[in-house]
Amino acid sequence: MTTIHEITEYADEILQTENTPDYPSALNGLQLENGSEITGIAGAVDFSTRAINGAIATNANLLVVHHGMFWDGPSPLRGSSYKRLRLLIENDIAVYSSHLPLDRHPTLGNNVLLAKQLGLKPSATFAGFEGIFVGVSGEGKIETAVLVERVRKFAKNYGSDVRTTQVGRNRETKRWAICTGAGASAETLTEAREMKIDTLIVGEGPHWTAVYAEENQLAIIYAGHYATETLGVSALAEHLGERYGISSSFVSAPTGL
Ligand SMILES: [Zn+2]
Repeated sequence: MTTIHEITEYADEILQTENTPDYPSALNGLQLENGSEITGIAGAVDFSTRAINGAIATNANLLVVHHGMFWDGPSPLRGSSYKRLRLLIENDIAVYSSHLPLDRHPTLGNNVLLAKQLGLKPSATFAGFEGIFVGVSGEGKIETAVLVERVRKFAKNYGSDVRTTQVGRNRETKRWAICTGAGASAETLTEAREMKIDTLIVGEGPHWTAVYAEENQLAIIYAGHYATETLGVSALAEHLGERYGISSSFVSAPTGL
């Protein structure tokens, strides 16, 4: 019999939950426990009603998410918050969340897995945050337009599309960096400039980042916040399922962003 505590203790260990800094609302680790043996694992990007219903549909009683139950900050358990909690408890579903620990993991992480999907080989870190690195970077010549098409193909699989800053004809990417999710920020753009990155692949970013990019000869490929964070939870759910001999699946719930 595999209990929630056995699985989450192992997950915390491989993800280094305890010593990975994060935003307070991430609350990494086990967020809601349950009472029964774990018989199915469902991975989803966001904690949402769609994710819970997806878990129920596949008989999963452990929901593994990237943006957890408390992502919006403290709020009263009323309306949809109450309904979600009730649905979880009525179905005895546990919730485990992993944000930056999962972004930066060397084999199950969103960033390394996105690089792999795009045929890029990371050789260095990127996106420093309080002593850790969330993203990856590397070198290798590729026509930027070709890379954009690869990213587009990937994003379309997850209900997203790609936006890019101006990419001139025959432009070449020589040094790239990836930071999934809200990866275009003042910090990452400064880091990109310091590292002489010419192409930055992110989930999303504010409008000013596109202007900054054009001014600094940087191409930014915005692949969708949701799409770029699907790979980590999928891989983690699958890994835990294989280790404990439990079925696992990914719940598709694209946000359109
Ligand atoms: Zn995110």
